[in-house]
Amino acid sequence: MRDPGLLCRKVASPRGARVTEITWGDGHVGVYPHEILRGYCPCATCQGHSGTISFVAAEGDQLQIEKIEPVGNYALRFEWFDGHGSGLYSFRFLRALCRCDACCPGEAKADHRDLPRA
Ligand SMILES: [Zn+2]
Ligand SMILES: [Zn+2]
Repeated sequence: MRDPGLLCRKVASPRGARVTEITWGDGHVGVYPHEILRGYCPCATCQGHSGTISFVAAEGDQLQIEKIEPVGNYALRFEWFDGHGSGLYSFRFLRALCRCDACCPGEAKADHRDLPRA
């Protein structure tokens, strides 16, 4: 059976917000500051084709979400105000990016280490 923690149930991203919330199938409410979401954009333009995903600092319009689209049943595509929108964020990768207090207490929130592709 599929891991319910990897099913995206609901996305809350009010226009102008700086944080997007994703409710997962296991009831976890994921917290995604936009600088983290955009900073870890997994697209080839941001990351090349290396095995890891590095944080790339972004600002201004780059942190405003224009549109969020489900891709198949495994990923979300985020489109940003500056037109950038080729990054596919797999549900597994999004779980790793969560910055809620349970996943990422205190100082860990500011951690910008490289992440494996997922
Ligand atoms: Zn990108
Ligand atoms: Zn979390």
